[in-house]
This record gives sequence, C-alpha cells and structure tokens, in this order.
Amino acid sequence: MTDLITQWIRDDIRELSAYHVPDPGQMIKLDAMENPYLWPESMQQQWLSQLSEVPVNRYPDPSAAKLTKRLEQVMNVPQGMCSILGNGSDELIQIICMALSKPDNVVMAPEPTFVMYQIIARFTNMKYQGIPLDSHFQLDMAAMTEAIEIHQPAVIFLAYPNNPTGNLFSEQDVKTIIEMAPGLVVVDEAYHAFAGHSFMPMLSDYDNLVVMRTVSKMGLAGLRLGILSGPSDWISEFDKVRLPYNINVLTQFTADFALEQHDILQQQTDQICRDREILKEAMMGLNGIIQYPSAANFILFKAEHISSETIFSALKQSGILIKRFADTSGSLANCLRVTVGTADENQAFIEGMKKILP
Ligand SMILES: *Cc1c(COP(=O)(O)O)cnc(C)c1O
Repeated sequence: MTDLITQWIRDDIRELSAYHVPDPGQMIKLDAMENPYLWPESMQQQWLSQLSEVPVNRYPDPSAAKLTKRLEQVMNVPQGMCSILGNGSDELIQIICMALSKPDNVVMAPEPTFVMYQIIARFTNMKYQGIPLDSHFQLDMAAMTEAIEIHQPAVIFLAYPNNPTGNLFSEQDVKTIIEMAPGLVVVDEAYHAFAGHSFMPMLSDYDNLVVMRTVSKMGLAGLRLGILSGPSDWISEFDKVRLPYNINVLTQFTADFALEQHDILQQQTDQICRDREILKEAMMGLNGIIQYPSAANFILFKAEHISSETIFSALKQSGILIKRFADTSGSLANCLRVTVGTADENQAFIEGMKKILP
C-alpha cells in the first residue's frame, strides 16, 4: 500500500498535512469567525415552506444567474463588471490558481495571512512566496517592492481586513501594489461587512484588480458561497475553470432568500460590530493582554506572561473554543484569536480569561 502511495501520489501532496478543524462538541464556538445568530422564527418558517418547492431532482442553474445578480446588488459591484460564484471563496482561490498555474508562476501574499492562499498554491502546482508584514502587521512596502521585482508574481492575494491579524492595510499601500504588480491582484474582502472600507468601487480604475467577497462571515457560512468580481476579461477566463453546477440548488435558493432580507443580516452584523467594541474595551481591562486593532469580527491578542497554550487549554476546560496558532516563532508567536460572539458568549470569554490571568 505505502509503495503504491509513494509511487503515484505527488510528493508535494504527501508532504502536506490535511487542514485540521477541531470538533467543537457543545463548546462556545469563538474560533471560526461565524455569525452566532440564527434567523427570526417567521423568516425560518417562510424559508422552510419555500424550500420544499426546490426541485432537487434537477441540476441547478449552471451560472446561478438570479443569485449572481442579487449578490452583485448587495455587494455593490460597479456597473460594467462581471462576477462568478464559488463554493465558498476557497473555491474561487482554487479557480484563480488553476487558471494561472503555469510552471514557475508565483503566488504572493504578505504573511501572516489566510493560510488557504499557500495551501491552494501548493496543490495547484504553483510557487508560493510569503512576504512578512511589518511589526504593526502593515505591508512592508520595501520588502513587497523588492519581492515583486524579483519574483514577478502571477497573482498577489491581499486580505482586506487581513486574517488572522484583523487590521486593514493602508489603502495607499494596496493601491501602490496594484500599480506595481505585473499580474493580477486579488483583494479578499471576506470581512467587508465589519470593515466599512472596500476596493469594490475602484474595480474600474485598474485592469489587474479583482475583488472577492463571501457570505460566510455575514451569517451564511453553512451555505458555502463566495463571489469574485472584476473586469470580464479576467472573469470569463476563470469561468472556464469553474466546474458546472458548483453552486447547488439549496444554496442558490437559500442565499437568494436570505439576501432578499439583507436588512436582517445587516442588523446582525451591526450588532456584532457594536459587541466587538464592547469586547475590545473589556479586553483592555484584562491584566497583561495585548490586543491588535481589528476591523473584522475577531480580535488577535496575546498575554505577556502566560503561554497561548495555557490560555487555550484553560478556556477549553471552561467550554470555550478559540483559535491558537501552531507557529511559535514567527510574528504570531504566543498569539490567539477570538471571534466576536453574542454578548453572553463574549462575557463568558472575558470571565474565563479573568480566571486564568494573574
Ligand atoms: C474565512 C475566509 C475566507 C473563506 O471564506 P469561505 O467563503 O467560507 O470559503 C476567505 N478569505 C479570508 C481572508 C477568510 O478569513
């Protein structure tokens, strides 16, 4: 068996480890940037009754035309731009990389950032270059400029706000990178709902910019749905790599239903933003905790005198799951990331922290 595997499975795939997601069981789940709220009862009932009419025996609309239009409205995609949908923005990252994967083509991203850029670059046989952010987790423009000149990246991914650091990069720096880049720049606005800043209105200013959004962090993570928008020259090429029917009928129907009542999702998001500010305040009152600025629905932090491992385990003991980082030497050394939950969940997190801290 092992011989068969070594003979036939790609070496670089065997070296990868599978993306691990811990089982939350009954814990308070503050690890994955999910929206903690369900829909109002009446909306649930309306959805359920309409769902029974969805023809699951038929293939979905291959281009998800109705949903694409709805998303373009909700996301304020400028007139004249095109979009494709993905099974989560993860799939869109994969589509971009597959379309750009030529031998020696480079994927570049500042680090630390969303790990899927690197993972997907690797399994689509692209080269990956991570360029460290500066000590404030801003773009190190000298390093970026040099790296872009040397590596001539086919694509640069910029998460805006960035995950796991939570901050927005300087808008001017991002513009400079778009202007400098020899290839495509993908601005990943997964946390747009919490940020209030976007490159979407600037799509028509550049011929090498595309903007990616997802409904995951807005409260629809279970549906798996992302959108990539930009000039039709790029989008129509990416569309050739997309598998037909990649957005299933249940997602097409449910996302359209939910986005028709976007004000409800918006109210939830606004609540999360208010609770984020309350959580930041409360964390400032915690002894020896350093937190980083966040324009997203999570906060990156570390403790001055206690290891992230100790905090992670103690919180887990009290039934609260947050995110720890395996990286122990880089700029995320000793860091943890907590997602903004409901007011009660955030309070439980703060109480849990108080028990651990001196
Ligand atoms: C969560 C996240 C995504 C993934 O979104 P899905 O649509 O759920 O696949 C993409 N980019 C960043 C930066 C994220 O944090």
